[in-house]
Order: sequence, then C-alpha cells, then structure tokens
Amino acid sequence: MGTKNHLYINGKWTSAFDGGEMPVHNPSTGEEIEVVSAGNHKDAEASITAARMAFDQGKWKEFSANRRAGLLLKLADQIEGHTDEFASIETQNNGKTLRESKFDVAEAVKTFRYYAGLATKPLGETFELDSPMTGKVVREPVGVCAQIIPWNYPLLMASWKLAPALAAGNTCILKPSEMTPLSAIRLFELIDGLDFPPGVVNLLLGFGEAVGQPLAKSPLVDKVAFTGGTVTGKKIMQYAADNLKKVSLELGGKSPNIVFADADFETAVDYAMFAIFNNSGQVCSAGSRLLVEESIYDQFQEAIIERTQRIRVGSGFDASSQMGPLISPQHLSKVQGYITLGEEEGGKVCCGGKRLVENDLKKGNFIEPTIFINVKPEMRIAQEEIFGPVLCLIPFNTEAEAIEIANGTPYGLAAGIFTTDGAKAERVARSIRAGITWINTYEQNFVEAPWGGYKQSGLGRELGTYGLEEYMEVKQIINNLEVEPTGWFD
Ligand code: NAD
Repeated sequence: MGTKNHLYINGKWTSAFDGGEMPVHNPSTGEEIEVVSAGNHKDAEASITAARMAFDQGKWKEFSANRRAGLLLKLADQIEGHTDEFASIETQNNGKTLRESKFDVAEAVKTFRYYAGLATKPLGETFELDSPMTGKVVREPVGVCAQIIPWNYPLLMASWKLAPALAAGNTCILKPSEMTPLSAIRLFELIDGLDFPPGVVNLLLGFGEAVGQPLAKSPLVDKVAFTGGTVTGKKIMQYAADNLKKVSLELGGKSPNIVFADADFETAVDYAMFAIFNNSGQVCSAGSRLLVEESIYDQFQEAIIERTQRIRVGSGFDASSQMGPLISPQHLSKVQGYITLGEEEGGKVCCGGKRLVENDLKKGNFIEPTIFINVKPEMRIAQEEIFGPVLCLIPFNTEAEAIEIANGTPYGLAAGIFTTDGAKAERVARSIRAGITWINTYEQNFVEAPWGGYKQSGLGRELGTYGLEEYMEVKQIINNLEVEPTGWFD
C-alpha cells in the first residue's frame, strides 16, 4: 500500500499510538494480504482533535462551496483514473467479482461528482413576514462527523459518507470495517495528494469497540453517521445520547420481493436471482424473501431453482465466476447456522445449502446459492437478516396477504414488486413500510434518490438532496428593518 502507517490524521500518515496492528485477509483464499495499523481510543481522540481544530479554527471554513466542489471533482477524476487498481483491491479484500467491484468504483466516482455539483446549488430560502422584518434560512455544516462503515461495499460506502459531508463543509473521520480497510487506505493516498487542509478528512482504522465507540461517544463530535448491523446501530444511538449528537443509521433488512401472477415471468425470475445472489447476498437491501403468487408458485420455483443451480461460484478474479465468497470464516459459519436452523424450523433446502470445498474453494469462504421452500413467514429464517445467498420462497394468494407478509418483520429497508398492472404496482408500493421500493426491477440504486429505511432499518437518508441535508444544520436569520424599541414594558 506504499506506506506502513495506515492512519491518516491531521494530514499525516501515522501508525497507531500503541503500535496496534491487525491482519487483513483475502476471503477467496484465506491468505493474509496485509497487516495494517489498528488504533485504540487514543488514536480516536487524536483524530477527533484534528477534525475539531480543522472545523473550528482552520482554513476549511474559508473554502467556498465552489472550492470544495473542485476538490471533490478532482478526487472523482483520480478514483476514475485508478479504476482497475481500486477494483482489484476491492476484489482481493472483499471477494466480490471484478465486475461487481468495477461497478462499485464507477458508483463511487458518480457520488463524488454528484455532491460536487450539489455543493454549489442554492439551498437557502427567504420568507415574507407580517412585521417589518425579513427572514431567511441558511444551511451550515453540522461540524465534526464520525462516519463508521461496513465491509460489504467498502469504497462505495466511504464515498456515500465522505462526499455529502465534505460538500456541505464538515470535517470527517472515516472508520472503515476492520475486515476491509484497503480501498479506504488507497482512497486516502489520493486525498493526501489534494489540497484539503490538515484535519479535514481523517482515516481511523481499528475494531469497532476500540475506535468506533469513542467516536460515537465523544462530546467533541457533532454527528455520527453509521452503516452496519441493527444491533450495532442501537449501540451507536446509545453512545451518541451522551451529548445528543446527530445520528444517522443505515441498518439491516429482510426485504420482500413480491411477484404477482401477471408479472413478466422471465424478468421476475432474473431479478429475483439478482436481488439475493448479487454480492453473495451480503447486501442490506437484498430481496431475501421472495413472495410468489400461488397460481405461478410451482412454475416459478422450478425456473429459479434451475437457473440458480447454474450460478458459477468462485474467486472474484476468475472471469467465469458469477458469485464470490462470503467475507469471513465467522460469517460463513453464521450463514451455515441459519441454513441448519431453517431445516430445524421445518423449511426445506431445495437448492444449494452447502459449503463449497472442491479444490481451492476449500481455502475460501464459499457457499452454494441456497433456496428454501416450505417457509412460513414467522420462521426465524424469514424474519432475521442472514446476509448471505439464502432465499426464502413464500407463496401468497391475495394482494392483501402479500402486503401483510411483506410488512411482517421489524425491518423496512426495501421491497420489489413485479406486475404488469400499473395501478396495483403503485398501490402495493404505497402500502409497504419501506424506504426503497422497486417496480419491475430490483437493487437499482441511484445517487439522485434517497436511500434509507423505515422501522429498524435505520434513521435518516443518504444520497440525493436528502443525503446532503443530513450533513447540514438549518439556521433562521430574522432581520428587523425598523430598528426601534418595542415599548413592551413601558
Ligand atoms: P457491523 O455492525 O458489525 O459493523 C459495521 C461497522 O461498525 C464496522 O466498521 C465495525 O467496526 C463498527 N462497529 C462494530 N461494533 C461497534 C461498536 N460497538 N461501536 C462502534 N462501531 C462499531 O456490520 P457489518 O457486519 O460490518 O456489516 C453488515 C451489516 O451492515 C448488515 O446488517 C447490513 O444490512 C448493514 N448494511 C446496511 C446498509 C444500508 O444502507 N442500510 C448498507 C450496507 C450494509
């Protein structure tokens, strides 16, 4: 990675205070790729001090929106210019196929460009008042933002966090997952070559409890933006309560994908597979519950099993692979545990279900794409986030029943609806308690559109103008045009 010091604090590369280190593995081979610095609370404090000083006293606040936009555009160009390198790092560290990694890099570039554009667009308002006063609303940066991200989209999640926060004029501390820090380190090497004042963008590596917790607790941090599991998200909210800092949470899901009998059959089968097997099912919005109308259930089940059995699982660097490994041996065990649980609950594995151990695959965390039938909506495999390539097929008879099953979990991130009846599609979309709904498509996300969940899938929204608003405070300024006493206490 070009440097032994992997923390980037106050514009300088540094090692962890107490010399902490952690290994980073390739999930396709089990090999150690690198040993990187792992901080503790002292490193967290150093990064908070740097970001605080940069926000309160540094040159950053003199940077116009135009100048901030210029930096983000340069960063986007730099990432784009290193697309193959980033894709390779991501595939090596996360395991996803190169095709998926290249897609992530392109989306990261788009995200920086989009927020560079938005930085310079007017967001203020003025309003008329009865009295001889004028009112206006201005947006200001929130301040120091701690940004904690997961391992499933390492570079993309970093861009979703940094781009809007920097566009709005905040200072940032990015905390990647301990499992996938490598693309963030490369990103910060590019950031280091740009003209960000010291302390504006900081990279803090380490385990969640060691560095994430002090960030979320610190009274010097104004906002914590977190993407990760719902259990961790609840802890973040508790830590943040100490100083009532702003919190935004992008958490887990158990999203329903509903196929009505009148759907375009081939399109629905194709997307149902993409919805759950893309990124090996390690997607917060994965369509992990496939609700199929009873009259086409058997035909649909047959078609999806036949096609799923043909998915080629293997190293992301192998051009013929369509699905990579799971992130870690621990995560593989968790997913296997859910498959065993599903069988104990009365579900039946009708496709896949096993770890792949032929030849070199045994060194990695590979598992077959798996489909369960005989699933009741209340079973744990249909209620809890498995975060792997495990699909639960559930039949339904009526539109009302589909909506009831769809809404019957604590989550509310995304939903898919497949039908050729436009009115029904919209009716169902509006009845589903989720922040993201797709009609006749699935897992299409756009930087222009708000991303986030209802219920226990999160708090706040990323992307679009909504994502920028999350990094801004709103201030009213009332200006009295007749400067004279009120006489109220005369
Ligand atoms: P995780 O919650 O284990 O970890 C996420 C991040 O939080 C990591 O950087 C980790 O080090 C840190 N962390 C862990 N414990 C912490 C603590 N006590 N204090 C502070 N930080 C802590 O999640 P994960 O396993 O990395 O990612 C998978 C989860 O992320 C899934 O549940 C998935 O649904 C969710 N996710 C959600 C979205 C979304 O947009 N809604 C996107 C991607 C992933």
